[in-house]
Amino acid sequence: MADKIKMTTSLVEMDGDEMTRVIWKMIKDILLTPYIDLKTEYYDLGLEYRNETKDQVTIDSAEATKKYGVAVKCATITPNADRVKEYNLSEMWKSPNGTIRAILDGTVFRTPIIVKGITPYIPTWTKPITIARHAYGDVYKNTEMAVDGGSKAELVVTKADGSEERSLIHDFATPGIIQGLHNIDKSIGSFARACFNFALDSKQDLWFATKDTISKKYDHRFKDIFNEIYAAEYKEKFEAAGIEYFYTLIDDAVARVVRSEGGYIWACKNYDGDVMSDMVATAYGSLAMMTSVLVSPDGVYEYEAAHGTVQRHYYKHLKGEVTSTNSVATLFAWTGALRKRGELDQLPELSAFADKLEKATIQTIEEGVMTGDLYLLSKLEGKKKVNTEEFLVAVNERLQAMM
Ligand code: NAP
Ligand code: MG
Repeated sequence: MADKIKMTTSLVEMDGDEMTRVIWKMIKDILLTPYIDLKTEYYDLGLEYRNETKDQVTIDSAEATKKYGVAVKCATITPNADRVKEYNLSEMWKSPNGTIRAILDGTVFRTPIIVKGITPYIPTWTKPITIARHAYGDVYKNTEMAVDGGSKAELVVTKADGSEERSLIHDFATPGIIQGLHNIDKSIGSFARACFNFALDSKQDLWFATKDTISKKYDHRFKDIFNEIYAAEYKEKFEAAGIEYFYTLIDDAVARVVRSEGGYIWACKNYDGDVMSDMVATAYGSLAMMTSVLVSPDGVYEYEAAHGTVQRHYYKHLKGEVTSTNSVATLFAWTGALRKRGELDQLPELSAFADKLEKATIQTIEEGVMTGDLYLLSKLEGKKKVNTEEFLVAVNERLQAMM
């Protein structure tokens, strides 16, 4: 075999939990280290080590990502009460993704991987739709109250000079509920820049939508910030790249998305992004074919799969049973990170390897070799279900032929 591909700068590698941790090692052993002199700065984000370090390892991995510019992350457990017992945790540690996102001030872009044989539920979607979700504020950082009848609810702001501004929410004759939301101009601006940069990077149009006709101050602020930043910093770059920024009302956006052929980025407020990304993922067929990248406004990239640690398969694996778990999204997290590393370090060989590995993966599925989840969806004749490892070996056969 030819010499291995060399890397000049390290990639931040964030290992994870359960079935995806098993897949992580298989991907490296079967498809990466035979071809690349892999240079990574390794952080073990598996729950045991997070607990041992009191979650410091998560913070360190995010700081390293800032330093090196590119990271690849395995799915991780977000602890709940069951997990605290299962892993004997000293605390219910926060979601690593949330911690990393907060440190990088990033926006998450989710894109489906499209393969022949798996038709989206909306058959006109022949190109991927990338959802960008604003990951700060709104209903996710709300304050809620249940109110008794006879109460008066007001919005009160105490300013720096001590003066108050008040606005009536509702006079409650009978019991009810209230909710206080907020967002921050700076966060909306970071979100906008991450979206504009990603659109330029991937040469795709950017759509953004809110309910500004009803929410004339709150949602309208999102629209204004996007428009101002676009006009001041991106309009000329977009025109030069031949792409478009397009704002519309959320209702109109939904209608247009359904009728579209895909091939653009849809920027969503936090709640819209939560709901619409599940809708889009389901419509394209499989969560296991959805990639995800966190992009910071200053251009730091962290790649991962959109799915979780596939716990049910892991328990089968522990019992010694063979699983057929889909590794494609995790594999594409690696190729995304390697390609970006190649671009930043001017290593065309490394980027070309990432392209080939993706091609080999898609070719494998399109030739009818796939894991159980896709086997159920694929309309290919003569399709064959393989186990977790057999799939990676089948990809490697095709990759070898390309090298
Ligand atoms: P999940 O791991 O995404 O799996 C849910 C179900 O979807 C699986 O049981 C499986 O269905 C199917 N599935 C997902 N990925 C698959 C793949 N690669 N191949 C084949 N089937 C796949 O979600 P979960 O079970 O709700 O969560 C498990 C853990 O993941 C939780 O501890 C959660 O905190 C964590 N999580 C982490 C992230 C992240 O790190 N980004 C995201 C979400 C969840 P069948 O069982 O029917 O085959
Ligand atoms: Mg959701």
